Amino acid sequence: MKRRVVILGATGSIGESAMRVARALPDRIEIVGLAGRNNIGRLLELGREFPEAVLCAGDESAAERLSRTLGRPVLHGEEGLLTLAALPEADLVLVAIVGTSGLKPALRALETDKDLAVASKEILVMAGELVMATAQKMGGRVLPVDSEHNAIFQCLEGQDPSTVKRLMLTCSGGPFRKAASADLASVTPEQALRHPTWSMGRKITIDSATLFNKGLEMIEAKWLFGMPMDRVDVIVHPQSIVHSLVEFLDGSILAQLGSTDMALPIQYALTYPERFNGPCAPLDLTALGKLEFEAPRTDLFPALDLARRAGTTGGTLPAVLNAANEAAVDAFLAGRLSFPGIWENVARAMDTVPFVEHPTLDQLIEADQAARNIVAS
Ligand code: NAD
Ligand code: MG
Repeated sequence: MKRRVVILGATGSIGESAMRVARALPDRIEIVGLAGRNNIGRLLELGREFPEAVLCAGDESAAERLSRTLGRPVLHGEEGLLTLAALPEADLVLVAIVGTSGLKPALRALETDKDLAVASKEILVMAGELVMATAQKMGGRVLPVDSEHNAIFQCLEGQDPSTVKRLMLTCSGGPFRKAASADLASVTPEQALRHPTWSMGRKITIDSATLFNKGLEMIEAKWLFGMPMDRVDVIVHPQSIVHSLVEFLDGSILAQLGSTDMALPIQYALTYPERFNGPCAPLDLTALGKLEFEAPRTDLFPALDLARRAGTTGGTLPAVLNAANEAAVDAFLAGRLSFPGIWENVARAMDTVPFVEHPTLDQLIEADQAARNIVAS
């Protein structure tokens, strides 16, 4: 079966990997819509490569320039993203926009009878309950693209959910896995942007250094797999070859392994439940030699405990954690905040923003804004 796909965030790191998958599997994947905000030159190239795809740019002037050059209409902004998400000719929408701007388009995709492939973990952290409930109501699938969740998704296939003991998310440990607490105060953006195993966008790379990425993924796993927070664990695995594991009641542990290439989980989400020979290089285990595992250092990286608390408490707390983290990462990258300042600000926002136990979408957005304001002050 050929799947007709819209990619939101087509010019980013996940977007580029998704394009590699689409190019390798032209009989299986047809690109019908592409949105990008930052790199308009790249969006122009993609528009030429996929002349049938509906395009969406970040703002009106970029859309006009693109439209003039390509000789076809180009959408823009939030409205444009919502139109793309609802495109009648699409079967699946891949949301790969950094942060929570992809939330409304993700809901729109589900509401218009499409499957949703989620790279943007922030939207599940902010509004996982709402996204999963919308998918259930509409009968759409939520397919995980994040490598850990894609691995768990594969390990759970054909298994009885009541036999799962716990999910084990693997974590590279980031560039400061062996640092001393005192070293972290002087970490620069340049040092934090050097990820040991994965090449990714800037925000998620900083999240990987603070371990907030893993914290967000714990909450993401809770929603995707309907698993209580105390059965979602983290294990450090510096090689990033085992993408995650599931432990069952009988003591069996299933794992999924693969190269550190996001093309693999993206392909599985886009072609699910089928497997094809795609662009991802095969894994040579003998060349790797050894795989290591260790416990995470929660003393050094408070992100994991903060995320566990947010995920266990629920309500608006995960949205507050996520928004405060986004704002704090921006401030850190701009040189306005120290590295430990990221988790200090997240903790402060979590203690300060008024808590709502069963928030509406508007209340989630309010909590998100309040958290950003606290970090800005
Ligand atoms: P990136 O910064 O490389 O790319 C982001 C893309 O989104 C770009 O195309 C950009 O133009 C677009 N964009 C940003 N803000 C937008 C807005 N408001 N409206 C429309 N478009 C907008 O980021 P990335 O590394 O590709 O990550 C994307 C998402 O995938 C993040 O949520 C990240 O956590 C998640 N993710 C990434 C990886 C990875 O390997 N890069 C792995 C797992 C999950
Ligand atoms: Mg991940």
